[in-house]
Amino acid sequence: MTSKTVPSPTKTRLADGREIIYYGAYQGDLTDGRDLAAARTRSQARYDPVLDEWVLIAGHRSGRTYLPPDSECPLCPSRDGHATEVPASDYEVVVFENRFPAMAPQPAADPAEGLFRARPGDGRCEVVSFSSDHDTSFKDLTQAQAMLVMQAWTDRTTELSKLPGIRQVYCFENRGPEIGVTLSHPHGQIYAYPFLTPRTFRMLATARDYRHRTGRDLFADVLAAEKADGSRIVLAGQHWTAFVPFAARWPYEVHLYPNRRVPDLPALSAAEQHEFCELYLELLRRFDNLFGVPAPYISAWHQAPVAHGRAELALHLELFTIRRAPGKLKHLAGTESGMDAFINDIIPEDAAARLTQTLRQMA
Ligand SMILES: [Zn+2]
Repeated sequence: MTSKTVPSPTKTRLADGREIIYYGAYQGDLTDGRDLAAARTRSQARYDPVLDEWVLIAGHRSGRTYLPPDSECPLCPSRDGHATEVPASDYEVVVFENRFPAMAPQPAADPAEGLFRARPGDGRCEVVSFSSDHDTSFKDLTQAQAMLVMQAWTDRTTELSKLPGIRQVYCFENRGPEIGVTLSHPHGQIYAYPFLTPRTFRMLATARDYRHRTGRDLFADVLAAEKADGSRIVLAGQHWTAFVPFAARWPYEVHLYPNRRVPDLPALSAAEQHEFCELYLELLRRFDNLFGVPAPYISAWHQAPVAHGRAELALHLELFTIRRAPGKLKHLAGTESGMDAFINDIIPEDAAARLTQTLRQMA
């Protein structure tokens, strides 16, 4: 791309006031010439008193863009005659506020009392486009491109953490129509929640209980135990270790831990960021090589909450595919969806062996 390289992100606004941020180089006019009415978001977080969890109710999302033809892709750069969500004519990585968010800044409301407690879903949902190339995938990014995505995740974690009322920032990617992805352009999302998600809440409670009982750090001990055992290690670098967890829920599930315990993405060093990208790109390539077709996957960054619990939850990434065999997907059915009790048909040690062997086949 023959355009100026910007060292820090370039922030501007879309026609309806949403924020858009370019990471790396871009080309063209950043003015959004569309006539776009401000999107109205009235999502709610409702409290489930039986499970002690918050649920987001976002009825307005049913009208969102669903698998548009490639020519109508909202994440591709704008071209003459076709204005997309990204006004630039080319870009490297871009982040913008979702037009159909599950959460968005809203006026404050008095919290209801009693069993039917509700509050505005006053968080924020952002889209991260990994590349201007519609037909690529994260695994095909160069190391430099992956580092730009890393910069975006890190920068957005810092910025979203500063917003009033935000409790937790979650960077993730859903990949593949089998997962329910509504746009095929390579992209991920960042959610900033006004509450602790059920999974994070539970991880914090477990880590606190572990420290109370043993005086030790749960995540550091899990990593040390996996390293000592060795049978589920998939990749081991100087700064990161990738392993299939002992009690993996999904057919092929890999957890990527930094060897140095840190709370969140902004705490990583440049060397740690760099090696993460190397190992992560390698892992994604191996996932696609498992069955010779693109793996439908979910990639989830677990970070410490914004305020409370920073000493308890350690940064790590959880990556898993729902594909268990050619043409066969793992569906969440009665025992998983009804009872949260997972059944995994693939033995974790076998999954680790498969993920290690794919490297040798590729070498
Ligand atoms: Zn596209």
